[in-house]
Amino acid sequence: MGTVPTEVVWHQASGVLALAWADGRAAHLSGPVLRAACKCAGCEQRRRSGESVQAPVGTQLTALHPIGPQGLQLVFSDGHDRGIYPWPYLHQLCLEPCE
Ligand SMILES: [Zn+2]
Repeated sequence: MGTVPTEVVWHQASGVLALAWADGRAAHLSGPVLRAACKCAGCEQRRRSGESVQAPVGTQLTALHPIGPQGLQLVFSDGHDRGIYPWPYLHQLCLEPCE
């Protein structure tokens, strides 16, 4: 089943990524929240080895690139720029407390 948002808005002034979904769910994800969920190989490896992945204070989302129909590549101000976030993963983030 495809999980694709009905709306994707990046508020560049605040650095917040706003997502809305067909199931009525909506979320405003801040830079630090997204960075803590970073999907780059380095962060994924840290998670696999049991380390926590935390966002440095003040981390901002600096760019986002659509990756075909599957999701977004998010670029952060601390240099983590390789993380590809599939839509179902972003939807899952919205199930958790969002800011
Ligand atoms: Zn990362």
